[in-house]
Amino acid sequence: MKSHYRVVVIGGGVVGASVLYHLAKLGWSDVCLIERSVLTAGSSWHAAGGIHALNADPNIASLQAYTIDLLPEIEKESGQNIGLHMTGGLTMAGTPDRWEWLQSAYRVFQSIGIEDCRLVTPEEAGELNPIMSTEGLLGGMWADREGYVDTTGTVHAYAVAAKKRGAEVIEHNRVIELNQTADGWQVVTEKGTVTCEHVVNAGGLWAKQLGRMAGIELPVAPLKHHYLISDTIPTLEKLDFEVPMTVDLEGFTYLRQDQKGVLLGIYEIDHEHWAMDGAPWEYGMELFNEQTDRIENELILGFERYPDLQNVGVKTWVNGAFTFSPDGNPLVGPVPGKRGYWCACAVMAGFLQGGGVGKSLAEWIIHGEPEADVYGMDVARYGDFAQNKRYIRETTGQFYSRRFVMTYPNEQLPAGRPLKTSPAYDAMTQAGCKWGVSWDLEVPLYFAPQGFEETPTLKRSNAFDIVAEECRVLRDGVGLLDITGFSRFEVTGPRAEAWLDSLMASKLPAPGRAKLAPMLSETGKLKGDLTVLNWGDGTWWIMGSYYLRAWHMRWFNDHMEDGVAVRDLGEDICGFALVGPKSQAVIERVAEQDISGLKFMGCGSYDIGMLRTRVARMSVTGEKGYEINCRYGDHITLRQILLEAGAEEGIRECGFNAMSSMRLEKSFGIWSAEFTQGYTPGMTGMDRWIDWSKDFVGKAAAEAERDGNGPAQLLVTLEIDAQDADASGYEPIWAGGEKVGFVTSGGYGHTIGKSLAMALVNRDQAAVGTDLSVHVVGVERAAKVIAPSPYDPDGKAMRL
Ligand SMILES: Cc1cc2nc3c(=O)[nH]c(=O)nc-3n(C[C@H](O)[C@H](O)[C@H](O)COP(=O)(O)OP(=O)(O)OC[C@H]3O[C@@H](n4cnc5c(N)ncnc54)[C@H](O)[C@@H]3O)c2cc1C
Repeated sequence: MKSHYRVVVIGGGVVGASVLYHLAKLGWSDVCLIERSVLTAGSSWHAAGGIHALNADPNIASLQAYTIDLLPEIEKESGQNIGLHMTGGLTMAGTPDRWEWLQSAYRVFQSIGIEDCRLVTPEEAGELNPIMSTEGLLGGMWADREGYVDTTGTVHAYAVAAKKRGAEVIEHNRVIELNQTADGWQVVTEKGTVTCEHVVNAGGLWAKQLGRMAGIELPVAPLKHHYLISDTIPTLEKLDFEVPMTVDLEGFTYLRQDQKGVLLGIYEIDHEHWAMDGAPWEYGMELFNEQTDRIENELILGFERYPDLQNVGVKTWVNGAFTFSPDGNPLVGPVPGKRGYWCACAVMAGFLQGGGVGKSLAEWIIHGEPEADVYGMDVARYGDFAQNKRYIRETTGQFYSRRFVMTYPNEQLPAGRPLKTSPAYDAMTQAGCKWGVSWDLEVPLYFAPQGFEETPTLKRSNAFDIVAEECRVLRDGVGLLDITGFSRFEVTGPRAEAWLDSLMASKLPAPGRAKLAPMLSETGKLKGDLTVLNWGDGTWWIMGSYYLRAWHMRWFNDHMEDGVAVRDLGEDICGFALVGPKSQAVIERVAEQDISGLKFMGCGSYDIGMLRTRVARMSVTGEKGYEINCRYGDHITLRQILLEAGAEEGIRECGFNAMSSMRLEKSFGIWSAEFTQGYTPGMTGMDRWIDWSKDFVGKAAAEAERDGNGPAQLLVTLEIDAQDADASGYEPIWAGGEKVGFVTSGGYGHTIGKSLAMALVNRDQAAVGTDLSVHVVGVERAAKVIAPSPYDPDGKAMRL
């Protein structure tokens, strides 16, 4: 062990070994991995080693695909056998809803580039896996690139390949302390102290403690997990092929062949956490005793699905632990506020995802940004609220026990909720509000009559008419929307304007004005679809998506300069929006100053009743609207004032579902759908806000896009011929049988009475009037490219 490295990776499981390998592969050989015991001594040694290619998040799916491609490469490079068995895989559905979902998911996989899968009948599935009973099955999906690896061999292959490229692996050496220094980290180990520029927490079951050593409370928890390995199954002995990796969704089990027996793993409904504060340091390569009582129901289903299991014994039980984050995706990337401290933990499927995690993290450390859009696994997608132990227990437990349970797009899951509520939450609940969740916050979806329950469905739900009515109110009259769920950052200081001017690609607004502002990375990808407000008193606000609060704050801090202060107002400021043609009449009634002159995209301080508020005249609905921002303590009063003032106009409270339908009718994109850090200004139309005459972060790359051949795909609006369901995202778009794009988001436009979607399509298919087709919930429907903003294309309503 040397006294200094550029990077110290802590943890010799599959994830740490992959990070080390990728750092070395990208040319950083002055790197080492420090392992407490021996390589694989955490979750990795006893994993089932299964590889399932499918994932609903396209970015994670493509990183998984990367891992699958990489596995034979590291085997070759290292000379270490990894026991790769590409058996192919089956995912089986046993209820009509699930089968519908699988057909719909199949189209999404096609759309995101997982081409090597197909739907199969129960009979075909039975031939592909002869030990599976097809009783009760309705259909399944076959994927070519599924199978399993030898876990120990794989970890060693990464490590050997890394060592061949100059990296060092140090075993039997526990890291006991981490201290931040002026230019990196001091890593105190059992065998001495080393310094480094970057330290990577790849501690797996011990990630929590490695976080605490640096003063970080990571949202990660280990859960126990069983699989059994059966004795030899005579049917398998007679086969001349291996049965495929098979997931029985309704049975909560996965199965793969293990020599001439099988490995049957269970996602446990009656789940059990273990060592929520991290595994004990003395924990060795141990297993827990099997707890068959806890998994009895799943076992019965498994033994029914694979009847041969009823006639052979169990050779081995494995009950081990591995780690989960609240949404089940890894925690990767730079930890906000801890320069040079990187996470590569909570990787629930390390053998499948480890390659992609290692690649992205190594790129991030070396190049400052990963190549792929890894928001779905970025550690900064969580805020401080997620450090709470009960929150972690509830959410990780929910994810684990629902691993194979179907979640409908309109379904609200209960774990970790309600956590944060806006002050008017109780009053709004009494008024019938149905809530969703954004980050830690309850957000209003719609207001329903007493006793109404929304039916979970892939298609249009029984809340359809309720949302339609709210859209009508907002388009024709006036509605009240709780807008606590927007983010607000205050920017002040002598350099505030200059700093904002360099960070935002658009012109800055004049005093008393607001402006849409794309924010770009150095590589010219989108980093925000923000609104900048200039209050005219030296104070600026940046408004954006609430759930990106910590993510954006990390970006602001990474670009911080002297003379600038950025404060997240998310715990101090909330508000309501008045929306609709009659909103002006209502606000004028309660504003102490003359607000009639406040023009579209104007902003200023106004007294509303007895409250001091900051008002901006804008609305994502495309209607005339006022966003009224107040202190948290004033929220209840503001609601009362506005409801009373609007009584004459028939004001009604409305929710985000209506807002979402209306913004589609205006072709207004939103983050995580039309805008992501994987997309550029040119392809999304964000370039129309760019001020090319000034300097800003990402300008060179944006200019290269502008002056080059143009983006391959463009954002368009589609009208879809669909009667009972709407597109939601990532459905494939076809032209004459050829895939030409995918849906970014969709829904029903209640005002214009059409099923709508926004989509990224190949440039030659983007012209208005182009006939296309789209798969919606698995069924191909006709679609047409229409001119943007099918409602009020000239934008008169919002400017009135
Ligand atoms: C029963 C079971 C079945 C599974 N099946 C699959 C599967 O089929 N497919 C799949 O992809 N995944 C599967 N997994 C999950 C898989 O095991 C994990 O995703 C993976 O092992 C995580 O790897 P890791 O490197 O993050 O963590 P770990 O393997 O836990 O490695 C962390 C390492 O860090 C070391 N360490 C911690 N603290 C320190 C310190 N202070 N100093 C030095 N070293 C330290 C530990 O000793 C350990 O070796 C399964 C898990 C279980 C339990």
